[in-house]
Amino acid sequence: DTGLEKTKDNFFSKITKVIAGKSTVDDDVLDDLEEVLVTSDVGVTTTLKIIERIQARVAKDKYVSTSELNNLLKDEIQKLLAENNSNDFQSFEYGTHKPYVIMVVGVNGVGKTTTIGKLAHKLKQAGNQVVLGAADTFRAAAVDQIKLWGDRVGVKVVAQAMGSDPASVAYDTLRSAVSNGDDVAIIDTAGRLHNKVGLMNELTKIKNVMQKVVPGAPHEILLVLDASTGQNAIEQCKQFTEATAVNALALTKLDGTAKGGVVIGISDQFKIPVKYIGVGEGVEHLQLFDRQAFVDSLFK
Ligand code: GDP
Repeated sequence: DTGLEKTKDNFFSKITKVIAGKSTVDDDVLDDLEEVLVTSDVGVTTTLKIIERIQARVAKDKYVSTSELNNLLKDEIQKLLAENNSNDFQSFEYGTHKPYVIMVVGVNGVGKTTTIGKLAHKLKQAGNQVVLGAADTFRAAAVDQIKLWGDRVGVKVVAQAMGSDPASVAYDTLRSAVSNGDDVAIIDTAGRLHNKVGLMNELTKIKNVMQKVVPGAPHEILLVLDASTGQNAIEQCKQFTEATAVNALALTKLDGTAKGGVVIGISDQFKIPVKYIGVGEGVEHLQLFDRQAFVDSLFK
C-alpha cells in the first residue's frame, strides 16, 4: 500500500483504453495519451514536454509497439522528475545545521499542521531533538492544533497568545532551540493569500527575526500543497513562490486523490524539489519523496 492507488488506477485504466486494439504508437495514440496526462493533472506545459520527447523517440525508432508505451512514459517521467529532484533527501537525519530551521508556509486546509506534526514525529524517530513554533497566531485553532501535535508526538511547542506577533513567536522558538541544543526547529506560519504584499511582508519579517538568532535561517522554506486540489495547488505554488524563496515542497492527501500527476507538473514547472508527500492522516503517513518509488508505484 503506497497511498497512491487512486492515482495509479486512474492513470492505468486510461492508458489501457488508449492502447486498446492498437499495436503501434501512432499520432492518434499520442493525442490520446496527451489527453490522459492533462486529465491526470500533469498540466498542459509538462504534458506537451513529455509528449514531444516520446514523439522524438518514436520517430527515431520508427516502430514502437503500444506494449512499450508504458516503459517509454515511465522513463520520460522519471527523467523529468530527476531534473528537479536530486534525491538528496533520503533520510530524516538533518546534520547540516544546528538548529536546522524549517519555516512552513501554505494556505489553511492544505494539511500544514498535520504535515508539521508528522514531520516532527519522523525527525524525532530519526534521533533529532525537535521544537515547534506556533507562529500562525491568526487562528486560535492553529495554535491549539500545533500544541495537540506536540503532545501527541512528544515535542516541545513554543506559543504565545492568539493575535500576538508571529515574528516574536519565531524569535522565541529559535532562542529556545539554541539554548536547549535542539537539532530542528519547525515554525508554522499563517497562510493568508488574499493579500500578497501582506503575506510577503510578514514572511520577510519572520525571516529577518530568525536570522538574528540563527544566521542563515530558515534553511528550509517548505510550502505545503494539497495534491487533491490539482491545478489549484499549481496556482498556490505560483503565489507563494512569488512571495518568498520556497525551496522545498510537501504534497499532501495523495492517498485520497486520483490527481497525483500534479506532482510531476509542479516539479517540472517550478523547479523546486518535492521533499515530502502525505499519504494519509496518521502520524506515520509522511514520506520523503522518492522519485523512483513514485514512478514505480504509478505503473505497477
Ligand atoms: P491546515 O489547515 O493546513 O493546518 O490543515 P490540517 O493539517 O488541519 O489538515 C486538514 C485536514 O486534512 C485534516 O483533516 C487532516 O487530517 C487532513 N490531512 C492532512 N494531510 C493528509 C494526508 O496526507 N492525507 C489525508 N487523507 N488527509 C490529510
